[in-house]
Amino acid sequence: MAKKKQFKAESKRLLDLMINSIYTHKEIFLRELVSNASDAIDKYYYESQGHADASQFEIRIEPNKEARTLTISDTGIGMSKEELEENLGTIAKSGSLAFKEEMKKKEENNNEDVDIIGQFGVGFYSAFMVAKDVRVVTKKAGSDEAYEWVSAGEDGYEITPCTKETNGTTIVLTLKEDTDEENYSKYLETYELKELIKKYSDYIRYPIKMNVETQKMKEGTEESEKPEYETVVEDQTLNSMVPLWKRQKSKITDEEYNQFYKDHFYDYQDPQKVIHFSVEGNTSFTALLYIPSHLPQGFYSQDYKKGLQLYCRGVFIMDHAEELLPDSLRFVKGLVDSQDLSLNISREMLQHDHQLKLIAGRIEKKVLNELGNMLAKDREAYEKFFEEFGVNLKFGVYNNYGMDKEKFQDLLLFYSSREKKYVTLSEYVSRMKEDQKDIYFVSGKDVELIDKMPVVQTLKNKEFEVLYLTDEVDEFVMQTLMNYKEKTFRNAAQGDLDLDSEEEKEALNKSKEENKDLLTFMKEALGDEVAEVKLSNKLTEDPVCLTAGEGISFEMEKVFANMPN
Ligand code: ADP
Ligand code: MG
Repeated sequence: MAKKKQFKAESKRLLDLMINSIYTHKEIFLRELVSNASDAIDKYYYESQGHADASQFEIRIEPNKEARTLTISDTGIGMSKEELEENLGTIAKSGSLAFKEEMKKKEENNNEDVDIIGQFGVGFYSAFMVAKDVRVVTKKAGSDEAYEWVSAGEDGYEITPCTKETNGTTIVLTLKEDTDEENYSKYLETYELKELIKKYSDYIRYPIKMNVETQKMKEGTEESEKPEYETVVEDQTLNSMVPLWKRQKSKITDEEYNQFYKDHFYDYQDPQKVIHFSVEGNTSFTALLYIPSHLPQGFYSQDYKKGLQLYCRGVFIMDHAEELLPDSLRFVKGLVDSQDLSLNISREMLQHDHQLKLIAGRIEKKVLNELGNMLAKDREAYEKFFEEFGVNLKFGVYNNYGMDKEKFQDLLLFYSSREKKYVTLSEYVSRMKEDQKDIYFVSGKDVELIDKMPVVQTLKNKEFEVLYLTDEVDEFVMQTLMNYKEKTFRNAAQGDLDLDSEEEKEALNKSKEENKDLLTFMKEALGDEVAEVKLSNKLTEDPVCLTAGEGISFEMEKVFANMPN
């Protein structure tokens, strides 16, 4: 009789944590076991230097309702006795400490513990979330010996010799009875298993097979009024194996890209733009990104979750990985499939975070670059995009204390008094008059209202171009930018623009002198309502206008007044 061995202390605690605290995402056990099976086939293939018979490669799922068991088997490399000990008896030390730290932090943070496994992966041990005991039968490729590893969880495991025909590993889970219904476990239902494989392991490179019972019309009864059916067992492959994003770009049709988008990101309309690219090097990854053609549902609500789906070597890890997208690009949908990120806790967590940051940096750069191309090559499309999502790019300017403003400034559009449409800052500057020092803007509720403002009339008469700011955030944007190509932004409705020629100034001074008493009288009559009453050349058609002094503008005042305290 084999001696029962205890799990190493760390494993024991982790096991306890897994079984007791991570409850809602129990279903990921299947993903973890299937991923391990796929890894094992990879290793076998690799070690045989490509000589292994690839037609034998498969992962098989077998539910057995009578026995309440779920079996996952593979034709991979298998494990020797020592490897069984090492791999299933301990959790590699390197990552486990970091993992536990993360776990604690997460738990303190509002109990958002559901994605812990998704992010870090805890592999084999997740089986104990659904199983009361686990039996592993394995035979190492090239060896004559097979072994059985059995454990009922916290109280350790046993290893005994056994027999097994072929190399590979078979894992038998005896499922817990933890539903209301006696003897029921959803992990024994064909439908459920199919769904889970589709959801998490669709892009595993090897076929994941299962015998599925289906109703088939009996041959020869098609024509008759009452066709007869019979139950037949079909061996089905549940996964599609090659992910769209791993295929050659030139061989993917627009239709396929669009359909994938609609299937995976819950949109009924085609995306406006597809960005599909791979990066090789220190961090290797493939990204398939989409810019929606309209605001995603609930985009401005608190519930909206930004982020990209994260895959690791074809295996789905998590939805909405926030770290992969800056806030300014929160409208972008899509996924990242990384080579380097590890599903395993056995690798360093810190490195994991670092990788995510590197990927996020590349993604931001690429998306902004593509937007720049769109602006240059397809103005109409870009304007449509900007109408929906431009405000996010403006946010990119003043977010991060304006540190990133250069990245965004050339992607901004503002309405122009001269062009009567949206223009870029670069276009504005390129047509500035020789003697013009500043970039003029005026803010207001809408284009029509701004257009009627006296100061705008004056500027137009003098043939200066004015940018009309109609978005609440626009003035913040200008304040953060401060200048563009060495030209300062200037709120034309504020202070003195100093546009008058010498003669005009002289004439104005003269009439000021002449009307001194009138101006004093008006100021006295208005009292504290105004700071000063003066004559101005700003007016052309209107007799009078209100002007903000230096400092905070009328529009900014409105924004502040509307802000919740
Ligand atoms: P990880 O996959 O992150 O390394 P797991 O807990 O999932 O950690 O598995 C631990 C180890 O057990 C694996 O690294 C592998 O060496 C071994 N192992 C697990 N499942 C199998 C399998 N089906 N075939 C061969 N080895 C396996
Ligand atoms: Mg694993």
